[in-house]
Amino acid sequence: MTSSQPAQSPKVTGSAEAFERASRVLVGGVNSPVRAFGAVGGTPRFVDHAAGPFIHDIDGRRYIDLVGSWGPAIVGHAHPEVVAAVQNAAEKGLSFGACCEAETELAELILSALPGHEKIRFVNSGSEAVMSAMRLIRAATGRSRIVKFTGNYHGHADSLLVAAGSGAATHGVPNSAGVPDSTASLTLLAPYNDADAVEKLFETYRDEIAGVLVEPVAGNMGFVPPDDGFLESLRALCDQNGAKLVFDEVMTGFRVGWGGYQVISGIQPDVTCLGKVIGGGMPVAAFAGSASLMDWISPAGPVYQSGTLSGNPVGMAAGLATLNLCRADGFYESLDRLSRRLMDGMREAARDAGVPLQAGSLGGMAGVFFSDQPVRNFDDARAADHDRYGRFFHAMLDRGVWLPPAGYEACFVSAAHTDAEIDQVIAAAAESFRAVAT
Ligand SMILES: *Cc1c(COP(=O)(O)O)cnc(C)c1O
Repeated sequence: MTSSQPAQSPKVTGSAEAFERASRVLVGGVNSPVRAFGAVGGTPRFVDHAAGPFIHDIDGRRYIDLVGSWGPAIVGHAHPEVVAAVQNAAEKGLSFGACCEAETELAELILSALPGHEKIRFVNSGSEAVMSAMRLIRAATGRSRIVKFTGNYHGHADSLLVAAGSGAATHGVPNSAGVPDSTASLTLLAPYNDADAVEKLFETYRDEIAGVLVEPVAGNMGFVPPDDGFLESLRALCDQNGAKLVFDEVMTGFRVGWGGYQVISGIQPDVTCLGKVIGGGMPVAAFAGSASLMDWISPAGPVYQSGTLSGNPVGMAAGLATLNLCRADGFYESLDRLSRRLMDGMREAARDAGVPLQAGSLGGMAGVFFSDQPVRNFDDARAADHDRYGRFFHAMLDRGVWLPPAGYEACFVSAAHTDAEIDQVIAAAAESFRAVAT
């Protein structure tokens, strides 16, 4: 490692004090639960700055970052072109609450990548995108029930906080308090990768299901790819039953490949939800579909949806600059190769240490489970050794690698990572696997 000291400096004085101070005024010391290190224990590290593939904490330590702000940092942190675009936009005003051309430009660019999608609405978070998409398909079908998969996460809208994976799973709250039973009961659950279970739901609730909502590659219970035929079956079931298929590509969109997993799989959903990468680190998300469907949204149609800061010029500029970098020839091939190399290295190092490990990746998304069984759904993910993950997480953090602070999360590789960083992570993992082998 070129700078920063590994293992021997476990002092986190600054972060410990900062967390104590934060905890007096912020709920749980954080503004999003997983940041509190609840699943892995210990003190959250406070970030001073981040650049390229690195995060620097306020204790002066540097880490190779494999979280990337949970996905958005696909070109690395503070990429000069993205920062310049944001600065230029900011100088002309942060938000107008009125139309600007950057909205149209980003819309055109995103829609050009999604076959069959003609119109888009920008919002400020993935939660908002999926919540609005559910309202849309309920209106368009005149039906109320939604099918979702156990362990898939779609943000914190009431009806979707049912068996919602990562944050909720980590904190032992499968269903959030404060969600009325009457709302939760409209959400029907099926195990991920189980199209037969969805077929049974359609048999029981034939004309009541507005649509099926799915993470085409699950990333909120760890990295869990779809089985061959799973998404095809969902497409066919929706078509047979007059229901809409909604791909929540908030995580996978422009992350696993240009456009998203729908481009790789060739399966076209009726509605796509996007977020994370399309804002390049600013709060930007969106939902998109055919013109006839999207025209249900206000002001074209009767489904109300709005946002004071939606489509603000700074967010649009960050998204445009980021996606323009992602368009470069070979961008996703290179990410895919790096992620693969990382997972191959981790698998090998775990084997050498006698630690059972499942490891997979696609594009700039990857993940490991401490399990000797393949992980295809949430029950499998839960059966992995999460206590060992917690110890591994800290062993890696001590060696200068910033992993997600919970075993139900995916890892993210950026275009700023090079083979050198990947090799350093693998070397740290080899030591860390040995440290957690018993
Ligand atoms: C992150 C995520 C969301 C929620 O997005 P926020 O911007 O955090 O509200 C929804 N769906 C999926 C698949 C996600 O990964």
